[in-house]
Amino acid sequence: MQPTGPTTEVHELVKRRLAENGIRYTSGRRSVVTAIQMASGPRSTAELSQETTDDLPISSLYRTLAIFENAGILKRDHGPHGLARYELAEWLTGHHHHVVCIACGAIEDIEVSDKAESELHAIVSTLASLAGYRVLDHILEVEGVCEACDD
Ligand SMILES: [Zn+2]
Ligand SMILES: [Zn+2]
Repeated sequence: MQPTGPTTEVHELVKRRLAENGIRYTSGRRSVVTAIQMASGPRSTAELSQETTDDLPISSLYRTLAIFENAGILKRDHGPHGLARYELAEWLTGHHHHVVCIACGAIEDIEVSDKAESELHAIVSTLASLAGYRVLDHILEVEGVCEACDD
């Protein structure tokens, strides 16, 4: 999905968050954020090492991902094959959902309209209230078969 603001705005927000943690926003780290921003969905470490423009050694990439995750810049999720993938946290990109291909493991962002989102929220609230819970947030991942696998 598209970031809410221009690319530079996300870089500014990331830079500020890192500064609060006493961490420098190096060009290598910047290139990781750019690669994640350009991606159509969450990305694994292997995918990111291909998509990062800087020649970032894999050890630096691992370290950068860990730093970003600790600083709340990235969110890590585990796809249907248990592969860890990273995406920017929702405070940077906005709320969205994922579609996952059960055949090839592809995962993509899907944006849900405000109307659909509030209907979703109502359903989720009803479900949660059955267990006496008040909803703070939800994660929805739709499993399906992508176009390439659907032949
Ligand atoms: Zn597929
Ligand atoms: Zn939602």
